[in-house]
Amino acid sequence: MRVAIIGSGPAAAGVLIGLEKHAPDASATIFDIGKVPDINPVHTRAPRDWSEEEYDKLHAQIKSQFGFAFPPPKTFFGQGLRKHPAGQNAKPFISEFYGGLSRHWSASVFPFVENDFAGWPVGLSEMSEYYAEISDEIGISGKQDELNSYFGEDYVNRPPIDIPAPIQKLNDRINGETKQSGPYRIISGLNRLAVETNSNAANSCVYCGECMYGCFRSSIYDATRTIERAKEKGLLEKIVNAKVSSVASSNGTVSLKTSAGDFDGFDKLYLGAGCFGTSEIMMRTLGINDGITVKDNNSYVFPIFYLGGASRNGNHSEYISITNTILACVPRDKNGHYAHVHISPFADYYWRYYFPVGYWRYLKFFASKFKARMILAKMYFPTQISKSYSLSLNDDKLKVEKKDYGPSDEYARAVLKQLRRVITGKGFLLPPVKLVRMSTSSHYVGAFPYSESRVPVKPNGEIMRHVYIADSSVFPESPAQTLTFTIMANAARTVRESLG
Ligand SMILES: Cc1cc2nc3c(=O)[nH]c(=O)nc-3n(C[C@H](O)[C@H](O)[C@H](O)COP(=O)(O)OP(=O)(O)OC[C@H]3O[C@@H](n4cnc5c(N)ncnc54)[C@H](O)[C@@H]3O)c2cc1C
Ligand code: SF4
Repeated sequence: MRVAIIGSGPAAAGVLIGLEKHAPDASATIFDIGKVPDINPVHTRAPRDWSEEEYDKLHAQIKSQFGFAFPPPKTFFGQGLRKHPAGQNAKPFISEFYGGLSRHWSASVFPFVENDFAGWPVGLSEMSEYYAEISDEIGISGKQDELNSYFGEDYVNRPPIDIPAPIQKLNDRINGETKQSGPYRIISGLNRLAVETNSNAANSCVYCGECMYGCFRSSIYDATRTIERAKEKGLLEKIVNAKVSSVASSNGTVSLKTSAGDFDGFDKLYLGAGCFGTSEIMMRTLGINDGITVKDNNSYVFPIFYLGGASRNGNHSEYISITNTILACVPRDKNGHYAHVHISPFADYYWRYYFPVGYWRYLKFFASKFKARMILAKMYFPTQISKSYSLSLNDDKLKVEKKDYGPSDEYARAVLKQLRRVITGKGFLLPPVKLVRMSTSSHYVGAFPYSESRVPVKPNGEIMRHVYIADSSVFPESPAQTLTFTIMANAARTVRESLG
């Protein structure tokens, strides 16, 4: 069986995992617009060995792309992501690297809960076996804690991460407040991370703290790991580095038009070009010039200060700077909306970003004191109350414009008010802050949802004969927790069900 896969991100990795299990004799070709990021000389060396000049170069490269952005972006060793200029507080990422957005992601992986599958052809019980398959591939660090009371089974199979003392105290403080009043029940627990924490593994995390630059140990899972393994096993025959413009299906086979020419003779084709990429290809293929909507989760950033005593100074070589813990804000009202708050240390990266790198040798004392006091929080809301984009094809080019921002601001104020009540005066301070909106969550869904009738998509993802959507374009909504674990699990399910 000849299989074409479009894209090289987590959805494509999910397709390969499905093929490996259910059609191991298939011969797959990946078509991907993605560039291999330029390899910075520091990318395999421990950050403690990076010279001041190398840090300086990295920051010059990042600033040339983003200026003084707040918060400064996570990059892949200096290479950031371009964005669609869709409007105010609305700049979704463009996915154009080999590995998709997983080259830049923060690897937080939570499953959907039963209600998150509203409008899907399957529910949590059908998805469980696919979540388990994906967790075997990516490895998930964590431990049983309060978050299991909301998420249930979390597929953790790696040791939990170590977290700095102030974040542990915040966690304990919140879970100690069992009699909270207000619209939410706020609980706290460790982030579930696709990060190798098994100390016997060759690529185990060493807590260097510099995740914002990219991981020199490859401890953070990215989709290229699965793709390279599929290549070694012979399942993946080749990767064609080209932009796919449209697909066609006739006489039982599938063909593609790409920037490197036409390709045909495939028995099946799986679309994993990300929500924007897949939309562009399918709009062109189906002759749809406008009227397609993509949804994004609204998100906000705010600080929390630790004021208590006896705190570790946050030694700069002993932490992981992606999200450490999660505050799950569970609404008491069944029509309310769940909010998901990511809690991270204030990484040294931010100091180096806003001050000339040469100042670091003087600043690091203060940075370390500050890290023991300031915690960074990012709060996410579901797409039901968040922004959306309208997509159109103008002169054959994709145009992305903000359609609506959604009413999440009022929910954000309600969460902040309750969180302030729970923690303030008990060793922590959540100062009165204006809402700082982030321009995108990086989670995109809803272009061709299962539940829609305009362009019907079958439960197995089939949108045209032998052409299947394997990414989040088919998700009707994105809940507040992260979605990539579900993208991968659903891609594996799509493969299995498309094979009958
Ligand atoms: C900074 C950041 C942090 C994130 N953190 C998290 C997190 O902690 N947890 C989480 O769950 N998610 C996170 N995400 C989101 C996550 O990365 C995405 O949900 C995930 O990568 C989507 O996978 P995908 O394969 O569907 O799409 P993508 O990863 O976008 O991959 C799409 C692929 O398609 C290719 N492509 C696009 N158009 C074409 C075309 N026309 N022809 C050929 N190829 C094409 C691209 O090159 C790319 O390889 C984060 C993202 C970012 C940017
Ligand atoms: S702290 Fe971050 S960058 Fe350093 S090894 Fe661990 S995951 Fe990689």
